[in-house]
Amino acid sequence: MDHFPVFLAVAGRKIALSGGGAAALAKLRLLLKTTARIEVFAPEADAEIVAWSTAGRLTLRRRALRGDDLVDAVLVYAANEDAVQDGAVARLAEAANVPVNIVDDLAQSAFITPAIVDRDPVTIAIGTEGTAPVLARALKRDLEERLSPRLGLLARVAQRFRAAADALPLGRRRRDFWSDYFLGAGPLLAEERDAERALDDLLARHLKAESKAGHVAFVGAGPGDPELLTLKARKALDTADVVIHDGLVTPEILELARREATLINVGKQGFGPSTPQDDINRLIVQHARKGAQIVRLKGGDATVFGRLDEEIETLQAAGISWHVVPGITAASASVAAIGQSLTRRGRNASVRFLTGHDMKGFADHDWQALARRDQVAAIYMGKKAARFIQGRLLMHGASPDTPVTFIENASRSDQRVVATTLQNLPADLADAALKGPALALLGLAPRAASATLDTHPEQETA
Ligand code: SAH
Repeated sequence: MDHFPVFLAVAGRKIALSGGGAAALAKLRLLLKTTARIEVFAPEADAEIVAWSTAGRLTLRRRALRGDDLVDAVLVYAANEDAVQDGAVARLAEAANVPVNIVDDLAQSAFITPAIVDRDPVTIAIGTEGTAPVLARALKRDLEERLSPRLGLLARVAQRFRAAADALPLGRRRRDFWSDYFLGAGPLLAEERDAERALDDLLARHLKAESKAGHVAFVGAGPGDPELLTLKARKALDTADVVIHDGLVTPEILELARREATLINVGKQGFGPSTPQDDINRLIVQHARKGAQIVRLKGGDATVFGRLDEEIETLQAAGISWHVVPGITAASASVAAIGQSLTRRGRNASVRFLTGHDMKGFADHDWQALARRDQVAAIYMGKKAARFIQGRLLMHGASPDTPVTFIENASRSDQRVVATTLQNLPADLADAALKGPALALLGLAPRAASATLDTHPEQETA
């Protein structure tokens, strides 16, 4: 972020603008939304600017900007549409220590003006640091359509009601009251008067309500791509007081947690440092007893190699309520990445989810069954155990040509696919030096190579 967005206090303060043409007009339309004192410096000004001046909405000085004009200014705009004149304004601004914006000159500007969605006092500023004005406009249009034109009114009424709402204890109960108002009752009200009465009723109801009991949602965060979260997962993250998450959960997904939520990383990374399971259980219970709405966020699906049962049993013993929100497991994301399916008519009527290691070390499986032709298995936590698995399968008669595909960071921007065979597995895996979480698909090779050939016949070279 080369530009940090802030909201500047401008009520009653001077904003100076140099210029009287189209660029000046465009900026003035925005500036006139504020309660700042606007002073325009232009020997020649557009008729509309003159009209605003006559109406007392701004002060028009029919001369060029001078240094002393900036003494009490908080911002200055150079909108002369002339590099020499704009440069002169920039120098005056620098001397007076007033941030300057030169219209259409990002590099020389001390600040830039975002695209604005105005539901005063609710204001949304959209910036792309000059890289994509078209995108900024599209986002603005989208938000304009989505947000009720009455949002500002609701916020203003709420402002007057703040002191009354302080009767509710700070934290979840007060938040619940406000979200009931803004997202529930508020938007249905027709008149400002109704809003005040509705707020009174709503507050009375919330004051009477018992405080909520703690609750735990076990939420599958999916393989890493935030777009692979379920809507329920998003909602849970939106309202959580506490998010207790694995190391597998990506920063992009944690970004979606409510801003005030407490984030706790209890990551267990393979053989690396980890929080003991008992400590995790204790932590969850501790927060739930305080009435927190907890999201226990686990990579992929919480029910797949997630030690979910231990946590559920702890909660049940403590009498704390819980529910599970399913997620997309790494196996699903991994087959998607190579364009294959986990089961296929005539090939395999079942699929196994295996772990490479368990509490005792490398995990044991029904190697005989796995070594048969056309078996498909998704092997979780299988990097370290790869050589062991290879040895067991070959010993039980698996073909050395059996395809094995590793998918690292499935669904993420740094996803990698390593296709090999049982025979070459240890060597190819060592070459690939996978660092991120990786899943091995036994019995599946990427479809991509052949699919690309099918869809892109080599016409040019023919
Ligand atoms: N509950 C998780 C699995 C936890 S076990 C799920 O349903 O996906 C951790 C293992 O999952 C990792 O060692 C790796 O084998 C696999 N895994 C998790 N996320 C992955 C990803 N994005 N890409 C590849 N493998 C992943």
